Amino acid sequence: MRKIRTDLLTPLDRDRTLFLKDHALAWEGSAITAVRPYDPALDADCEDWRDCLALPGFVDVHTHLSQYRIRGRYEPALLDWLEKYVFPAEALSRDPAYAELIAEEFFHALFAAGTTTAMIYTAPFQEACEAAFAKAEELGARAFIGMTLMDRNSPADLLQTTDYAFSCSVELYERHHGSSGLLDYIFTPRFALSCSEELMRRLGRFTHDRGAWLQTHLSENPQEIEQVRRLFERAPYTQVYADLGLLSPRSVFAHAIHLTEPEIALLASHECKVAHCPDSNFFLKSGELNYPALEKAKIPIGLGSDVAAGSTLNMLYHAKLANYRQSSYSLQPERLFYHITLGNAELLGLGDRVGSLEPGKEADLCLLQRPAETVPDEELLSALCFWGHELPVRETVIAGRTVYRG
Ligand SMILES: [Zn+2]
Repeated sequence: MRKIRTDLLTPLDRDRTLFLKDHALAWEGSAITAVRPYDPALDADCEDWRDCLALPGFVDVHTHLSQYRIRGRYEPALLDWLEKYVFPAEALSRDPAYAELIAEEFFHALFAAGTTTAMIYTAPFQEACEAAFAKAEELGARAFIGMTLMDRNSPADLLQTTDYAFSCSVELYERHHGSSGLLDYIFTPRFALSCSEELMRRLGRFTHDRGAWLQTHLSENPQEIEQVRRLFERAPYTQVYADLGLLSPRSVFAHAIHLTEPEIALLASHECKVAHCPDSNFFLKSGELNYPALEKAKIPIGLGSDVAAGSTLNMLYHAKLANYRQSSYSLQPERLFYHITLGNAELLGLGDRVGSLEPGKEADLCLLQRPAETVPDEELLSALCFWGHELPVRETVIAGRTVYRG
């Protein structure tokens, strides 16, 4: 059992955050057992963490483990960037020793950023995906992990056969779905341009029958959209995925920037989720998410780092960018904080287990160094959302287990 004395910030809902001053936070095994005002009579045995803030562990709904080392390699157009940097980087994971090493680096960086749950793409090799699962289990990560699929229009050293792509995905799913309280498999076609209709149709059927999760990219870049239109001889982009059975409440589409009204309606009617990655969208000059239109259509929006087109795994940084990358729509600090904690957890169906600090929930949290200067309590959340990424994470805990100490 651990019991600490500290201040807490925890989301209540989309637009409200609770600040709890001088509280005792306790957890035993994997669960939070108490969040209450510090009482010297009851809590004399607390560890003193008053120089930190306790926050729910951050949740990242879109990131690429195998690309971790190519952050910041500049090429401001999606398709050129994939050819020049992403494909060569992912090809390195064919070597199982490299796949293990990059997984270790990635999870260490994830925990050092205070992130406790992530939705992860790996390289297009079954062994590389297995290495990511093994490392996640060893180090204690909470994650959805998928092998990236590409059975056409891809470099020879990454190209999978349709049968390999499908059958290895199913094997990975059968092995890892429900095998641990922390890990799950997610089917991961890279995007429409790299996947055949047959593969996507088989994935659509399987994920529908089994209620499995699926992630892919959608409508990120105008050149990509035009190529999808030519390749599939139909439009819009979302309709391609719809026709192949990929739209479901457990489908997470990254970017979704250049959607038409009918596409937004299509995503909404299938209760699909969108992973918004503002850092990546402006790094690759992809465009600006129509946040108000998706919000109006009640499409759940999550925030993702999209490393490596995103430059960092630090979700406080991405919270800030979610605000900055809306040129005329103002996202308040409460909403930003919700997105990287409870909102992202809810998007992944984990809202009743993690995403906020409450008794009964699992102990996924991070302890962030407080600013050195005095910040009034009521201004702390705003400061955190706009420059909190500069503050060091002192400890990260997942399901009660310390996975990182700064
Ligand atoms: Zn991505």
